[in-house]
Amino acid sequence: ASVVGIDLGNLGSKVGVARQRGIDIVANEVSNRVTPSLISFGPKARAIGEAAKTMETGNFKNTIGSLKRLVGRSFADPEISEIEKKFINAQLVDASGTVGVSVLYCGEKQTFSATQLLAMYLARLGQIAAKELQQDVTDCVIAVPGWYTEVQRRAVLDSAFISGLNPLRLINDTTAVALGYGITKSDLPPPETPRNVVFVDIGHSNYSVAVVSFAQGQLTVKSTAYDRHFGGRDFDYALVQHFAEEFKGKYKIDVLGNPKATFRLATACERLKKMLSANQEAPLNVESIMNDVDASSKLNREQFETFIAPLLERVHVPLEEALREAQLTTADIHVIEIVGGSTRIPAIKQRIQDFFGKPVSATLNADEAVARGATFACAGLSPRFKLRAFTVNDIATYPIKVSWAPSPEDEGEEPQAVVFPRGNGIPSTKTLKFVRSGPFELEASYADPAALPGRINPWVGKVTIKSVGEAVPATVKVRARLNLHGIFSFESAFVETTQVVEEEVPSETAPAEGEAPVAPQKRQKKVVKKNDMPVIAGGLALDSSILNAQRELEGQMIAEDKLVQDTEDRKNALEEYIYDTRSKLDDRYATFVQPKEKEALGVKLAEAEDWLYTEEGEDAPKSSYVSRLDALKALGDPVAKRYMETEMRPRAAAALRETV
Ligand code: ATP
Ligand code: MG
Repeated sequence: ASVVGIDLGNLGSKVGVARQRGIDIVANEVSNRVTPSLISFGPKARAIGEAAKTMETGNFKNTIGSLKRLVGRSFADPEISEIEKKFINAQLVDASGTVGVSVLYCGEKQTFSATQLLAMYLARLGQIAAKELQQDVTDCVIAVPGWYTEVQRRAVLDSAFISGLNPLRLINDTTAVALGYGITKSDLPPPETPRNVVFVDIGHSNYSVAVVSFAQGQLTVKSTAYDRHFGGRDFDYALVQHFAEEFKGKYKIDVLGNPKATFRLATACERLKKMLSANQEAPLNVESIMNDVDASSKLNREQFETFIAPLLERVHVPLEEALREAQLTTADIHVIEIVGGSTRIPAIKQRIQDFFGKPVSATLNADEAVARGATFACAGLSPRFKLRAFTVNDIATYPIKVSWAPSPEDEGEEPQAVVFPRGNGIPSTKTLKFVRSGPFELEASYADPAALPGRINPWVGKVTIKSVGEAVPATVKVRARLNLHGIFSFESAFVETTQVVEEEVPSETAPAEGEAPVAPQKRQKKVVKKNDMPVIAGGLALDSSILNAQRELEGQMIAEDKLVQDTEDRKNALEEYIYDTRSKLDDRYATFVQPKEKEALGVKLAEAEDWLYTEEGEDAPKSSYVSRLDALKALGDPVAKRYMETEMRPRAAAALRETV
């Protein structure tokens, strides 16, 4: 079993692994500890992560990011079609009721749902972890925004299934940060005097706040608050608007009317923004932004802050809400820990500091705290690790109610009840009681639809209790559960019957010798028997046949990607062998090759080279490159061997002398 934690970031994701000696954030194939959350669809294969980033500029219409913003959402939701669309260059479409993307892939227009896209990406992250751990990766913990609803959480789990991962838990990302903070502290106070810490995470798309109280061996999330549309991309966007306007006058170009130019400008604006976090002034340069114009400008920090003023005005809102929900004041807060790339912006940090009236602390790694926490959570759930016992008491973000058709047996009671209020602990199981004489149905839904992101449907699930047993009216108990992922389900329904049974009372004194034994005493006892009732439960889970088909398709695409990559590698190997051998024949192999041999090899090398540049050789199956290379090696290897033997002998002798 693997122990892996994933921070699914909107811009980039971070992967942690646990080994006996501790937790490490994994570097990917180009040694970055953050992997771009991007997929780029090509003519033959997909590029995912770093490879997608490389292809993005040239293939931006078939490149898609924003995976965590899209998953579990519907195409018709204005939050998707109006807000998210601003940050997406690929074409969004409806994919069987959820949002998807239409891309040119393998020469065809193809549609993938956001769930499938996330699956592709998760599979890639799994590979990165697997390479590091040198083992298959399945078990993991994935960090998601605390504001994710049922449909989003289920979609992430579906994605994970399609990708072959097995999330032991979806953890709310600020809870992950809190866990990473608490588990390493040895000086936590006793439970009577807990320490309150505020965690602030401002990333690329999202701003989260959590108020968490810590005591020895445990953390308790008191409250959370969010601004779901607040992050680095919004600052970049403000800069893009500004420079697009400036360039209209300065260069007579309409950047915003040209998606590619807009993309280039946004990239430059992000760079500029980061420079302004460390410098008072910074330049902006975009070579051939459009119409052969090399655009350049500059900006100082003060100007930047005026452009993002409307956003800065919002910094205090989630902070205020979180404190109010936790029923605390700034004076009750021991420390404020900030994470996420955008908390590096001085004006943001200042606003947070002003709100609390004291300096913020940045003792956690701003980029890696979520991934580290998720990895700790995974280690805690893994039997292979002995972790210091640390209890995580997390809470539900949205209240869930259960409703039913009115029934005379309810005696005028309201036909609904909030079963899991906002702030209810997770996991949690509640038992609901109904007096019924026949089958009935329950429906679960979010009790406060206005609090949900966009137009997410508040419906969560339902259950039909098909029978209530013989003895009516029966008191039926229905169990509802909010599990560790924050996902709701109706678990079971049962009727309790009380039976009276007789049992013997063991006599207290043994009969005296010679006396007849006393007849045993009997007494009556009530026994409660639980009879499970048949139920049909339904929820937002994707049909398992669809999931299995998508998992198979993903497996095929992975195999195709690998074949394309292997073919490319074999082609490169052939090309390299040709040039390498040719140059060696005139050089180090010269005295080891007979003229006839050299001629024959030269001809074969030239033939192979020519073939490589024909249409066929340009795009041939893997086996063609392999067999051609093998044929060349059959001729070249004997020469190379002769050279090696002569060349290596004196060296080996020298090495021997040194070790003696
Ligand atoms: P999210 O949490 O919203 O899903 P994420 O986890 O991918 O996104 P982070 O990695 O926390 O986001 O932060 C990335 C953002 O931080 C980017 O918008 C980036 O431009 C911004 N950023 C990184 N470094 C700096 C800096 N020095 N100054 C300003 N902004 C920065
Ligand atoms: Mg993040």
